[in-house]
Amino acid sequence: MRIVLVGPPGAGKGTQAAFLAKNLSIPHISTGDLFRANISQGTALGKQAKAFMDEGILVPDSVTIGMAKDRMEQPDAENGFLLDGFPRNVSQAEALDEMLKAESMKLDAVLDLEVPEDEVVKRIAGRRTCRNDSSHVFHVQYKQPKVEGVCDICGGELYQREDDSEETVRKRLEVYHTQTEPIIDYYRAQGLVVTISALGKVEDVTGRAMAALKDDAAA
Ligand code: AMP
Repeated sequence: MRIVLVGPPGAGKGTQAAFLAKNLSIPHISTGDLFRANISQGTALGKQAKAFMDEGILVPDSVTIGMAKDRMEQPDAENGFLLDGFPRNVSQAEALDEMLKAESMKLDAVLDLEVPEDEVVKRIAGRRTCRNDSSHVFHVQYKQPKVEGVCDICGGELYQREDDSEETVRKRLEVYHTQTEPIIDYYRAQGLVVTISALGKVEDVTGRAMAALKDDAAA
């Protein structure tokens, strides 16, 4: 299956993507994670991306599309993938379509995670992420780790992503509305969009997502 996950920052895309990719046996490809890995390794690409990310704005397509394409061309993605955070604007969606068309492939579904805006700000401002694995996510109020600052799953250090400050979150939301939301209409015109609520327990949202993908595949 080739799936795109969309939703505002704080919808739980990373968390859901990790579970869904495991359930569906496809790699989870997150452009945000790829950028963060490049930043921590100090690569040229990481240096280019960092300033944009810290400001909460999109990294230019000239950098992003090539990086995403390279990752999708790895052998583990031959039979499918779950894209998390890519595409993030219509020109990236068009580039992805071109790429898939050249290989006689197509997307199976676009899973749209819906969450109210006030909930998003609450979720992100208290979010703490593991330095070892960004799908290990905690919250100062809603999902406290057993030991403050330490990941329950792997013992890694928990930190607040620089782009999770309230001011940057507001900017990221604005970017989401103006640049990313239009891809939902773009994919709706192709009959690919399935929308689910991202509220409630993590496992309930995963269950909803799996059911929606199954219904979609059967339709
Ligand atoms: P995420 O981890 O998906 O929330 O992404 C964090 C940040 O990385 C975003 O706010 C952007 O600055 C950058 N980013 C991630 N994916 C993309 C993309 N597809 N296009 C441009 N910028 C991206």
